[in-house]
Amino acid sequence: MNNTKGSSIIVALDYNKASTATQFVDTVSPELCKLKVGKELFTQSGPKFVEGLVNKGFDVFLDLKFHDIPHTVSKAIKAADELGVWMTDVHASGGRRMMEEARNVVEQSGSGMKLIAVTVLTSFAQEDMTEIGLTCTPEQQVHRLAALAKSSGMDGIVSSAMEAQGLRQALGNDFLLVTPGIRPACSASDDQRRIVTPRQAVDNGSSYLVIGRPITQSANPVETLLAIQQEISQD
Ligand code: C5P
Repeated sequence: MNNTKGSSIIVALDYNKASTATQFVDTVSPELCKLKVGKELFTQSGPKFVEGLVNKGFDVFLDLKFHDIPHTVSKAIKAADELGVWMTDVHASGGRRMMEEARNVVEQSGSGMKLIAVTVLTSFAQEDMTEIGLTCTPEQQVHRLAALAKSSGMDGIVSSAMEAQGLRQALGNDFLLVTPGIRPACSASDDQRRIVTPRQAVDNGSSYLVIGRPITQSANPVETLLAIQQEISQD
């Protein structure tokens, strides 16, 4: 597994302000988990907040799903790289040139920042595909875009843990599969429908598990993290 500080758990900091996110962050450590900052928190709290997490030693996944012309995306990737984040993402549907230019930025900086691609949003159903002119199934499109992401130099993709097994077989062992929609057997499913337990996700070939509410809303986040850690490290 390709992780820098031991943990393959990425906690989604889905808070609407930095002060609440910080209350949670103060209870965990970089050895226990990595942290994901998404569009809401980033738009509210900005790069200074992200830099603060990096300075505390956390591996940060900046989940802004860039999708624009290659030049604009490469500039955004450069800015993310300069923040010192561990990983960031783009939409694979931005195409090969966009992804290759993003890859070039990271090669030139030498930072080793991970670049992953979103294939098809899990909120997308067949009728949404048809409406934008795509005649294949969402699953076919996921596989097509995953292969394109790999051949365009991405380190991995975001995927449902349910689809991880087939993707792992198609894409090989070195490609990162970052999987949300995880629910420990004991926790509520919230609004996630297609859920997988941490153990199942790892068995399906997931490299990193993105977990939000089961940890952030837990009465004892550290205890929950340790329990999940134990569940996934058992043979
Ligand atoms: O609280 P929960 O564990 O459901 O959070 C999962 C995180 O992963 C959220 O930040 C959510 O936006 C993100 N995500 C997801 N499903 C996707 C892509 C991202 O749940 N297909």
